[in-house]
Amino acid sequence: MSTMISFMSASNPHDHHEKASPLPGIPPQPTLQVPVSQAIRGYSPGKIPFSVEFMPPRDDAAQTRLWNAAEAFHDLGVSFASITYGAGGSTRERTMEVAQQLAAKPLTTLMHLTLVDHSAEELRAMLQDYARRGMTNVLALRGDPPGDPLGTWQPTPGGLNYASDLIELIRNTPECENFDIGIASFPEGHYRAEDLEQDTQVTLHKLRLGADYSITQMFFDVENYLRLRDRLAAADPVHGAKPVIPGLMPITSIRSVRRQMELAGGEVPVKILERLEKAAAGDEVANRDAVREVGIDITTEMSERLIAEGAPNLHFMTMNNVRATQDVLHNLGMAPAWGPGYGQDMVR
Ligand SMILES: Cc1cc2nc3c(=O)[nH]c(=O)nc-3n(C[C@H](O)[C@H](O)[C@H](O)COP(=O)(O)OP(=O)(O)OC[C@H]3O[C@@H](n4cnc5c(N)ncnc54)[C@H](O)[C@@H]3O)c2cc1C
Repeated sequence: MSTMISFMSASNPHDHHEKASPLPGIPPQPTLQVPVSQAIRGYSPGKIPFSVEFMPPRDDAAQTRLWNAAEAFHDLGVSFASITYGAGGSTRERTMEVAQQLAAKPLTTLMHLTLVDHSAEELRAMLQDYARRGMTNVLALRGDPPGDPLGTWQPTPGGLNYASDLIELIRNTPECENFDIGIASFPEGHYRAEDLEQDTQVTLHKLRLGADYSITQMFFDVENYLRLRDRLAAADPVHGAKPVIPGLMPITSIRSVRRQMELAGGEVPVKILERLEKAAAGDEVANRDAVREVGIDITTEMSERLIAEGAPNLHFMTMNNVRATQDVLHNLGMAPAWGPGYGQDMVR
């Protein structure tokens, strides 16, 4: 318990950014962002650095929830927070708004950016705007076809075709010379890739063009993560050895984990489903807590293995909730238990 108390008072190692202006009506000054590839090498209050993924909020209530989550993860010593980029509409504008608020917190903030519905000129202008605001961490992605993520990819007229084109655009934009670039990588191979070999070559191509690290698609078989890491390092000991950050989704229900994997073009492995379904005992609603407990155990076991195998950082897809991630961190001895007085969603 004594180690737990130290987490409650630990100041965040990334607290050296400029503070936001406390005066109402005066916009926060641009913050100097720690590159994500360095943030994961810095001090961590736990066994391994951990980071979180947020989604831009749809309304004010969701905004409050996100802010509470950011506070809680900040206090737990998160290495960086990433914010996703939607397929369109107002959440896209909120990505920048929220990212700037997180950066001013201060938190090392990673902005996802996709090619969907943007011309190359628009993307260049956006990147220059990021640079002006001091937002220098970008996850360069292609994105999926809007409406049907598994549908046929159509580049926007005047737009780019692959995430690698976005990396080149960033590297060829003088204002972005100090950008730290992340990319997506896929332990099971991207669902559109011809095979694992082609997938490896695409990932290496992006790393050679100047990406600094990758974050993986969510997965449930740690072996696949380890094989990806080994494949990359064996194929190119310089660029292939850049950090591969495992992306983890703490499991809280069978329905949601199935849905998330479906959207990512994959499937939940049978072994995992069997454990969850055993806990559900034929009625997932009635046995929700039992399913959740097994789900959190599964994510904890994966995390333990990843730590033992030397993963650089654990990246949790939080859906803007604290509890599931904090439960896993608590099981790992890296956070106090979630509950009244500490880290409770909607309370802080
Ligand atoms: C960590 C993470 C975060 C994500 N965040 C978001 C988000 O915020 N918003 C969002 O909309 N989506 C997000 N995605 C989903 C992502 O946009 C999709 O998985 C998308 O289908 C692939 O993106 P990519 O950047 O890997 O694309 P690319 O690298 O462009 O690859 C797309 C496909 O093209 C193939 N390919 C690439 N380059 C070439 C080439 N030169 N020649 C031939 N084939 C090629 C690849 O093998 C792959 O099949 C995220 C994914 C991950 C893993």
